[in-house]
Amino acid sequence: MRLLLMGPPGAGKGTQAEVLTEKLKIPHISTGDMFRKAIKDGTELGKKAKEYMDAGKLVPDEVTVGIVKERLGESDCGQGFLLDGFPRTVNQAEALDEILKQLRIKLDAVINIEVPREKLLDRLTGRRICKDCGATYHVTFNQPQEANNCDVCGGELYQRSDDTAETVANRLDVYAKQTQPLIEFYQKQGLLADINGDQKISAVLKEIGERLGSDLV
Ligand SMILES: [Zn+2]
Repeated sequence: MRLLLMGPPGAGKGTQAEVLTEKLKIPHISTGDMFRKAIKDGTELGKKAKEYMDAGKLVPDEVTVGIVKERLGESDCGQGFLLDGFPRTVNQAEALDEILKQLRIKLDAVINIEVPREKLLDRLTGRRICKDCGATYHVTFNQPQEANNCDVCGGELYQRSDDTAETVANRLDVYAKQTQPLIEFYQKQGLLADINGDQKISAVLKEIGERLGSDLV
């Protein structure tokens, strides 16, 4: 199964990716991991990517696309893969199409996890983190026993500056604006599977399984 996974911050993409790759026995390929691996392996493209990253610059598409191509050509991708975090733009999506054509493979589906904006705001702004041990809590969904203290170590809980209402709203806006053209791109190709992410994890998985014609739960 060759899949692409999309979803806004707070949609639970990480959890879904973990279960999907385990059930389908395919590797989870995130952009971050891919870069780290190419850099660690010291490939030509990895070296180039590192130069840009060390200089605090965006890695250009030609380098990113080259790294994706190398990764998708590796033997563990023979039974498929779950690509996460790439493509981010229509240009990258077109480049991915080209890579797939060269590798003589096709995507089976683009899983797009959807959660209403209000719910995402609740999920993301409610997060609290222990300043001592890093354990995470949620003011609604995963409350600590004592309002402001960590269950594990008793440390004080705080809200990351990334999780304030204003920052979260901005992150969601940026995501929506960036992603809309991609969603249309894959809709036209008939690959888009919109999945309701505003339900229990097992229900989300069940819905994905139904769309893929594969029993996941
Ligand atoms: Zn703690």
